[in-house]
This record gives sequence, C-alpha cells and structure tokens, in this order.
Amino acid sequence: MASIFTRIIQGEIPSFKIAEDENFYAFLDINPNAPGHTLCVPKKEVDKILDLDQDTYAGLMAFARKVGLALEAAIACERVGISVIGLEVPHVHIHLIPLRSMADATFSSKVALSPAEFEEIAQKIRAKLR
Ligand code: 5GP
Repeated sequence: MASIFTRIIQGEIPSFKIAEDENFYAFLDINPNAPGHTLCVPKKEVDKILDLDQDTYAGLMAFARKVGLALEAAIACERVGISVIGLEVPHVHIHLIPLRSMADATFSSKVALSPAEFEEIAQKIRAKLR
C-alpha cells in the first residue's frame, strides 16, 4: 500500500505544498512544532534515510537546503533546525523546523493552525524560493 506521503505527492490527500521537482516534494507538516515546519520527501518510497541510494540522498539534501533557505527568509526564527525521525511515517522525510527555542526541536510542543494560517505561511515560504 502506498504511504501517506506518496498519496500526498500524488494529490490524493491535500497538502500545503511548498515546492516540487521531478524527484522531491516539500509541504507543511500538519502537526507542526512551530509555524513553517516543513517536510521534504523523495518521491521514491523508501522507509529509512540511510537506505536511500547515494544520488537520491544527495539530491534530497540539496532540495531541503533550497527549501530551508526560503523558510529561514520567510519565517522569523533564530535558525532552521533539521531533523530526521521517521518513527511515525515509514517514507523518508526531512523535518525543517524554524527554531526560536529548544522546545521547538523536541516534537512535544505543537502549534494549532487554521487552514487559512497554513496557506498564508505556505505562500510566504514559496515567495522566498530561489
Ligand atoms: P516522523 O515519522 O518523522 O516521526 O513524523 C512524521 C511527521 O509527519 C509528523 O510530524 C506528522 O505531523 C507528519 N504527518 C503525518 N501525517 C501527515 C499528513 O497526512 N499530512 C501532513 N502534512 N503531515 C503529516
């Protein structure tokens, strides 16, 4: 069965999309640690990041860097944190999290956002993509 992220990439499940190219897709995390929390995903469905082939791994990092720079420019924060967890969704993804404090990096304090707030944030980040 396709992973939930494959279903998002295919448009079967809606997402607040940030960026997409031939191999990768970025969208807002639905249960964010902080406003702007973004996931970068390879379209190739692989469970664990260290099992990616070298080219996909390097490509994912380059894609996440591009999205992360836009995030840093769009959302007020001290820096953008990068995490890989994968305990919930078995499809490789990089968390990009705008950090203001250590609490934003812990995955224990979450923020609730309305659909309009998600869309506004997504537009701000997309506007900073280079
Ligand atoms: P992890 O697998 O790294 O522990 O966490 C998976 C992340 O995916 C979580 O932060 C969770 O909020 C996010 N997530 C799970 N399901 C969905 C979904 O359907 N849409 C979006 N946008 N994010 C999701």
